[in-house]
Amino acid sequence: MSGNITLSIIKPFAIKSGFIGPIMAIITEAGFRISAIKSVKLTIGQAEEFYSVHKSKPFYNDLVEFMSSGPVVAIMFKKENAVEDFRELIGNTDPSKAKEGTIRKMFAESLQRNAVHGSDSDENAIIESDFFFAKKERF
Ligand code: ADP
Ligand code: MG
Repeated sequence: MSGNITLSIIKPFAIKSGFIGPIMAIITEAGFRISAIKSVKLTIGQAEEFYSVHKSKPFYNDLVEFMSSGPVVAIMFKKENAVEDFRELIGNTDPSKAKEGTIRKMFAESLQRNAVHGSDSDENAIIESDFFFAKKERF
């Protein structure tokens, strides 16, 4: 059975570009309910931990630097089939390959600066939600 939570991050460049409002509007219009939300500036160490699965990738160091370069907004969303539906809504990792109407197609600056993160599995949605939010911060 698929889970009902996913963890998203609005990435630094999207924040600097003033896209929090438009991105949140699209997500909530699509039926996702905000369970927890916060603005936080990740340390290098925290960004390394969050993306530790990509440690061996050539883009890892740049990604960690980018994700800790400014504040992000972390959001835990609830919806039936949340992980899969959210990945569909944000589109391909590479905005040049993302479908029309997806968030990455509309708001990404580049493959690295692709506006938003979305969990890739129910298991990771739980791990990533625990990374950002205490139980008492979830509603
Ligand atoms: P997704 O965010 O779609 O799950 P990945 O988990 O593969 O994609 O990658 C994590 C993040 O790392 C991407 O969202 C993107 O910001 C960055 N990234 C992925 N692949 C590359 C790449 N080839 N070059 C630069 N940055 C990348
Ligand atoms: Mg991923």
